[in-house]
Amino acid sequence: MRTLITVMPFILLACGRPPTRIELNEGAQRLPVDSSVDEEATVQEEEDELVPEDLLVENEEEKAEPEEAQFAEDPERLSLNVVFHLGDSQLWKDEASLKPVIVETQRILSLAKIEIIPQYTTDDAPTEMMDIYFAPEVPGRPNINGVSFGMADREIYVIDNVGLQKVDDKRPPQSDIPRYIPGAKPMMKLAITQDQAEQARTTAHEIGHQLGLPHRQDTTNLMASGTSGWTLNENEIQTMRTTAVQQFGAKNITNAMLLQED
Ligand SMILES: [Zn+2]
Repeated sequence: MRTLITVMPFILLACGRPPTRIELNEGAQRLPVDSSVDEEATVQEEEDELVPEDLLVENEEEKAEPEEAQFAEDPERLSLNVVFHLGDSQLWKDEASLKPVIVETQRILSLAKIEIIPQYTTDDAPTEMMDIYFAPEVPGRPNINGVSFGMADREIYVIDNVGLQKVDDKRPPQSDIPRYIPGAKPMMKLAITQDQAEQARTTAHEIGHQLGLPHRQDTTNLMASGTSGWTLNENEIQTMRTTAVQQFGAKNITNAMLLQED
């Protein structure tokens, strides 16, 4: 934590409240198949059946569909490597506990077609990537939700319990689970609580600062100070994308690249 004496240009007002978390229902486990079934009884005679020709065509079309839906390719999508430091946090202990926050953060950043590639560590040492520290409070700065240090330092702090002024932000009740989360499939969604959403909004807001955005007055905007707003305008999107490429080495990313990184 080398930058505590650095000038801190961006701060938020804070009032804490404990988050409640919900778990994604991963589905019930399958029971093992009964292996005592008489094998002979499972052998079936294949019989040729006469099928009208138009039905055959329909069946062919169904078979042409991929068995598993794929995430859509988008050539404009940019990757952004982010390291989450969880060693000091009392609430966000690991990748699993942080998952809803990551999912909601990604929903906001997807407005700019920026896809964070998260890594998780309990080590405090800053990296060459964007470093985000979750902690009970910002060291030496009580009563703020988060802080984004100068871009050269690439460091962000977000407190464990952020408190934001709720605005009419039309947040969807569920967010898509991004492809980089293990086991994610297209259309898989996760409900996000208000507390998780506020944590995510603050995280995305500080990432916005790192990507060159100043504060705005519009309370529904991501860069309003201390509100739950999350929208971005066209100028902000362009600034974020340009800064991500120039300062953080963001690259256009394909599904195949992501699979390799797994
Ligand atoms: Zn700010």
